[in-house]
Amino acid sequence: MSIGKIVLADRVLQIPPSPTLAVNAKAKALRAAGADILNFSVGEPDLPTPTHVCNAGKQAIYDGHTRYTPVPGILELREAICARFKREQGWEYTPDEIQVSCGGKHGLYNIFQAILNPGDEVLIPLPYWVSYPPMVQLAGGTPVFVPLREENGFDLEPSVLEQYATSKTKAIILNSPSNPTGAVLSLAALEVVAAMALEHGWLVVSDDMYEEISYTEGKIPHILHVDPRLRDQVLISNGVSKSYAMTGWRIGYTAGPLDVIKAMNKIQSQSTSNPAAPSQYAALAALTGPQDFPALLREAFLPRRSFFVRELQALEGVSCVTPMGAFYVFPNFSAYYGKTCQGKTIDGSVALADYFLSEARVASVPGAAFGADDFIRFSFATSLEVIGKGMERIKQALKVLQ
Ligand code: GLU
Repeated sequence: MSIGKIVLADRVLQIPPSPTLAVNAKAKALRAAGADILNFSVGEPDLPTPTHVCNAGKQAIYDGHTRYTPVPGILELREAICARFKREQGWEYTPDEIQVSCGGKHGLYNIFQAILNPGDEVLIPLPYWVSYPPMVQLAGGTPVFVPLREENGFDLEPSVLEQYATSKTKAIILNSPSNPTGAVLSLAALEVVAAMALEHGWLVVSDDMYEEISYTEGKIPHILHVDPRLRDQVLISNGVSKSYAMTGWRIGYTAGPLDVIKAMNKIQSQSTSNPAAPSQYAALAALTGPQDFPALLREAFLPRRSFFVRELQALEGVSCVTPMGAFYVFPNFSAYYGKTCQGKTIDGSVALADYFLSEARVASVPGAAFGADDFIRFSFATSLEVIGKGMERIKQALKVLQ
């Protein structure tokens, strides 16, 4: 393809823009133009960043932390991340086994750039978070999708996993709690992944971004607890975006084997240099200050989750697995596909999400963006009042379909 005389790179032509960000931008633009849009699209906590964290960011600017930092992030922050791993999980990491990046997303991007060669396959459970496949492709790898079933609560099924593993499998991505399904991987599933990863030497990319936002009793199972022998094959991806309502500060971090972290640092040194210095100081305050915030988030989300799930399950033809973590519901609306409104057929999740936006003024993300066209994702990081209003509008819009 060419624009005037410019021929774009093949790699960029293979990938779409991030659909979550695209729907959010569209919803915001419609709202700015005066439309009364209820936005359930992008995933970001609706609580403000805690005040002491904001103050630390401001203070960092006044203290002159406005210059380059070390490529992998300031030492104090990497030490705080190590201390958090030790305190919360009992894991021992040293600061040189940590990279701080511009958000968890950027950390994942660096991981795939550092580990993949052409032909390498990466197992990605489906439904998947929208950015995993493009990130793997941009690094020259091949995404291989491992289907998860709604009837099984979107848990990973060992027999299915075995079908998709090949001699080219280089890594597997785990995301528990999951965006978009909210599923928490079972111990049994993790045991099988651990055994296969050990046997075949796979790397395990564990995206733990929603770790703090789970609705189960106690800690959720983690691959590194299931088999600590995997320590040098696991890359842990996390960040402060969701746990401390800091999406715009763009601070994520990765812990993993030294060789991989060093390779990621090489890539970071040639691309972003370092994440923004004031944001790093704000993240330091988040990780070392009072730790009541994630519990506040869970408390805020819990009644919204119950209400949303109950309302969706009560809709005729709709099924909805109760999310055990994160802040998304992922109902199955496929019973409505094939129906029409004013001569327009709802032929899948993209058409239905478009219909919800135009007819109900409700912004959501089509399941197709997550590889699962039967579903629609709604974020419940918004007030109960907005969820109630949104459900009323959805009900009305569905009634009109024939
Ligand atoms: N991870 C969030 C979501 O899925 C934020 C947007 C993005 O980076 O995809 O909505």
